[in-house]
Formats: sequence, structure tokens, C-alpha cells
Amino acid sequence: MSGTDTASFRDKVATVDKEGKRIWIFPQKPKGRFYNARTLLSVFYLFVLFALPFIKYEGHPLFLINVLERKFILFGQIFWPQDFFIFGLGMVIFIIFIALFTVVFGRIFCGWVCPQTIFMELVFRKIEYWIEGDAAAQRVLKNRKWDGDKIFKKVMKWTVFWAISFLIANTFLAYIIGIDELRIVVSDPVNKHFGGFVAIVIFTTLFFFVYSWMREQVCTVVCPYGRMQGVLLDKNSIVVTYDHVRGEPRGKYKKNEERAIGDCIDCNQCVRVCPTGIDIRHGTQLECTNCTACIDACDKMMEAVNLPTGLIRYASENNISTKQPYRFTGRMKAYTAVMILLLVVEVFLLATRTDVGITILRTPGQLYQEQPNNQLSNLYNYKFLNKTYYNKELELKPEDFEGTIKLVGEEKLKVPKESAAAGSMFIYLDKKDVKQRKTKLNIGVYENGEKISTITTSFLGPFGAN
Ligand code: SF4
Ligand code: SF4
Repeated sequence: MSGTDTASFRDKVATVDKEGKRIWIFPQKPKGRFYNARTLLSVFYLFVLFALPFIKYEGHPLFLINVLERKFILFGQIFWPQDFFIFGLGMVIFIIFIALFTVVFGRIFCGWVCPQTIFMELVFRKIEYWIEGDAAAQRVLKNRKWDGDKIFKKVMKWTVFWAISFLIANTFLAYIIGIDELRIVVSDPVNKHFGGFVAIVIFTTLFFFVYSWMREQVCTVVCPYGRMQGVLLDKNSIVVTYDHVRGEPRGKYKKNEERAIGDCIDCNQCVRVCPTGIDIRHGTQLECTNCTACIDACDKMMEAVNLPTGLIRYASENNISTKQPYRFTGRMKAYTAVMILLLVVEVFLLATRTDVGITILRTPGQLYQEQPNNQLSNLYNYKFLNKTYYNKELELKPEDFEGTIKLVGEEKLKVPKESAAAGSMFIYLDKKDVKQRKTKLNIGVYENGEKISTITTSFLGPFGAN
């Protein structure tokens, strides 16, 4: 048996023994329609994951998550720290979406989409089966003394694991620094990009460690999402579950014998294939990643003994115990409402997001200045952020006041692509137009004669201005 979970109640993780030592899991290779579907999906998933860093939009990456320079590109759109509230809200929406999804569909994300499961079960584990054989052969190999064959197999496995970890590390880095920068880091001498080299080595080692040693422990012990299942799931959540009504009392299958007990033939196949070492017949458990391996294993056994498949299937606890049809509960409705509201806000923020980030603020500590020709002036600091891939030339015009705007030391306001321009400027007003201590002013920002934004600021006059 792969796992050790035979008790009906557990107060410890299934992969830890009484002494606190780890129990190494040797799951049997799953076979079946769910495993085939997951394999197909993983091929598509991996293709997208590895191809995305190479895809460019207008000469720039389609996706970039450069946390080092706080520069993010999503679907070709650059997001700057100034847009962080949009990005932050997007993350909140994503987390709520995952929570909602979990309430309704359990850990379907873990089994079908999470990179940890995809790489562990559908890449590294497959390689392991290919080199070391199925569960029984792996167990024998582990317990065997180090001979030529064992050394060969282990070295071969670790070499392939290391190579894939290296590939993942490079891809991971490509999402952070971009594929062009990564090419330079990889092709230049090490001493020229020592930081990049160290990052690749660290990430490669980390991925190698995760997939060769940590494995299911990432899902069962480390992952915070896994830990949250206890509060997210309820009896209406659809999870991989054992139909205990149909299956119990379980008993061994005897050929040509009328079956007067439950349908579970106690073959333990569902436990043998489980990569987290649990027995799904004890109900929903924290370690279950909804990988569906036990569904495939059980269906195969049911077919072999001519019983209906689906003894283990996607269903809610209520579906099984009360035969209740699926219900969209109050909690699910509340999550959906919050989700829709946040999505509307996000779409609004994205739709109203401008290509240029602009701030114009009166220079701190400065009052007004007396000027010739009965005029007053105020000094301002401006900052223009060009979020696009093009250089911009902007013009500032008074919107709702008679006055002049003059840049300090600049004729035109030029903002290079993907960067910011900062400086100072004066606004001149006739004294007769300054009727109060603080006058609200609207400044139009124009590009190629077209207004792209209006900025509101204030003009400081003398006390008791008439
Ligand atoms: S109980 Fe079934 S679905 Fe859950 S982790 Fe084990 S094999 Fe996968
Ligand atoms: S695979 Fe199905 S029949 Fe076999 S022990 Fe598990 S639940 Fe019972």
C-alpha cells in the first residue's frame, strides 16, 4: 500500500509516523479517463506556460511581472506602481474567485490547474515511473543496497529532474526580467551578471528540492490554500468523494457470489494511487488535492467486478448522504455578489485608466510671487508618467482661467516612453482674477491638440484677496 492511512480517525498528517518521521509515498501510476484528461490539459498548460515569455506585443513582453523594478505587463498593458490599486484589486478579485470556486467546486484548482500538482504529478512523477518503474519497483529500489543499477537509475532521474528544474527556473526568471534580459544573462560571461546567475542556481535548486524531496508535503503542509479548506468547504461543496451510502459495509469481492453488502470491495486501489497517502473512504480530508486518481482507480475496479462506476466521484457530502440535488446556497450567492461587485469596480478602473499618470502640486513651502504687469505667480512641481511604449509630447493649457503656464527650463513637455518626467512650472494670473486666498484651477493636458486629461490644482493668493 502506498500510504498508511488505515485508521478511521486521524489526528496527524497521513505521511508522518508516530515518531514524527516522514512516510515516503509510493503512489501507483493512475490510469483512466480523468488521468488522460489531466495529461491532455497539462500538455496545453505547459505549452502556454513555457511559450508566454516568448510572445511579444509591440516589441514588448505580453506578460512581465518584474517585482524588482515594480513593472508589470499584463496582456501587453504596462502597469506602474501608480496603477497598483488596479493590480491589487485584481489580486483581491482573484483570491475571492478562488474562495468562491472552492466553496462550490472544492479543490478543483489544486487537481487541475495548480503548477505544483501539474509539475509533480504530470511531469516529474511520470519521469519517475519511466525511469524507476511503478510503485512496487520504486519501493524495492529504495530499499535495495547501492549497486550499479540503482546508481544509474538515481543519477539519471536526478539529472533529468535537475534539467527540468533548470528549465522552470529560467522560465520563472523570464517572467520577472523578460526573455531578452534572460538571454543576455545566460549568454554573457557569468561575472557580468553574477546576480542573474545566482538567481538561476537558487531557483533551480529550489525547484529540484520541491519536486525530488518536498513533493506532496507542499500541498499537505506548506500551501496556505490547502490549510484554508477547512473553513471554505461545506457539505454542499463538490469534491472528490466516496459514496459511503452505496459502498458500506465494505467487503471483499467473491466471484459468483450474490453481493449482500456495500459495493466497496475493499481492494485499497484508491489508497494505493493516492499521491498524498490518504484513504478517501474516511471522507473529505485536508490532504486531498482532488487529483482524481482514486476515481480512476475505483472505476477500473468497479468495471472489473461488473458494478456501476462512480463509487468515488465528484459530488457533495449532501448529494451522497441525503441524495439531495445540487443547491446554490446562500453563502455561494453572497460570494458571487461580492465577486460581481469587485469585477464591476475593476472593469471601471481599467476602462478609466489613462496612458499618462499626471500630478501637479504646488511646491511645498512656497507662497505666491509678485510679478510685473500686476500679476501673481505660483510655483508648481509636476510629474508626468508615460505608461506607453511611445515618446510623448504634451502641452498644458488653462481650462477655466485666464492665465499663463510656463515650464521652468523647458519649452515643451517631453515624456520619454515607459518613464517619468518631473520638473517645475509657474502659473501666472492677473491680480484682478485672484479673488480669494485659494483659487481652484483646471489645467488641460493635450497631446497632438487633443485633450487627454484635466488636472485640478489651486492657486495661492494674498490673505484677504478681494
Ligand atoms: S484522495 Fe483521491 S483525489 Fe484526493 S489526493 Fe488522494 S487520490 Fe487524489
Ligand atoms: S478503489 Fe473503490 S472499491 Fe476499492 S477500496 Fe477504494 S472505494 Fe473500495
